[in-house]
Amino acid sequence: MELYNNIITATRAQLDGAAPRQWDYDPANAWRDTGESELVMMRDAAFELGGGSCPSANFTCVTSDEALVPKDEILLYGKDLPELNGDVSFARLAFLLVDDLGGDDEATYQAIRDMEFVKYHVFPEGYMVRISSESNREQVRLSKAAVSRGIDFKRVGAAYIKGYHRNEHVKRVQIVFITDNAVVAELAKTAKKVDDITKTLTHILEGLPTDCGSCSLKPICDEVEGMREMHFGMRNKG
Ligand code: SF4
Repeated sequence: MELYNNIITATRAQLDGAAPRQWDYDPANAWRDTGESELVMMRDAAFELGGGSCPSANFTCVTSDEALVPKDEILLYGKDLPELNGDVSFARLAFLLVDDLGGDDEATYQAIRDMEFVKYHVFPEGYMVRISSESNREQVRLSKAAVSRGIDFKRVGAAYIKGYHRNEHVKRVQIVFITDNAVVAELAKTAKKVDDITKTLTHILEGLPTDCGSCSLKPICDEVEGMREMHFGMRNKG
C-alpha cells in the first residue's frame, strides 16, 4: 500500500526542524479507556484541543513501507497536556504500517476504512473527542479531573496505539500529536488531501469508468502515485 507514502513523507518534511518529544509504546501505561463515549460538560472542562476557532486536523495514513513507521511510538510537537492552561490548536495523525491488507483492491479499501474507524472507538477517560469527518477536524475537551490525575499525550497515545493494534492488519503505529498553531493550520490542508485519496478509492470501487480525459478525479490521480495503476488494474481484472 503506497498511496499515502508521499503524504507521510511530505508531513515529515513539514515537521522537520522542530524537535519532537518521543515515547516508545508501553501498553501497560495506556490511559484508561472507558469503552464508550463520555460527556464532559463545559463546567467540568479544563480546556479544549482544536476547539472553537482554533485550527484542528486529523488524518490516518497506511503504508507497507517499513522505513516509514520504524516502531510503535508517540511523538509530540508543542506543549503536552499538563503544560496547557487554555484552548490550543490540535492535530492528531496516525501512520500505520500494515500487511498486504487481504490482497485485492476491495479488501484493501475495506481494511483502510476499518482502520480509519478506529478513531471512533478509542475513549480515553476524561478526554471527550468530537470528530467532524466533513472538515477532518478532531476536537477534544479535557476534564479537570483527568488533568488533575496527570493525563498526558504519552498515555493517550498509548491508548490509541492499543486501539489500532486490535486490527489484525496493523503491524506498527506512530501517533503524532501537534499543539503548535502554525503547523496545525498547514496540516488541515494535508488532511483534505488524505480525504481526497480515500474518496477517490471509493469512486473507483463503485465502478467509475476508466476515462481519465473526462474524469473529475484526474488532479488527484496526477498527484498520487499508484492510484491510476489501481483503477486500470481493476478494469483489467473485470
Ligand atoms: S485513473 Fe483516470 S479514470 Fe480512474 S479515477 Fe483516476 S483520473 Fe479518473
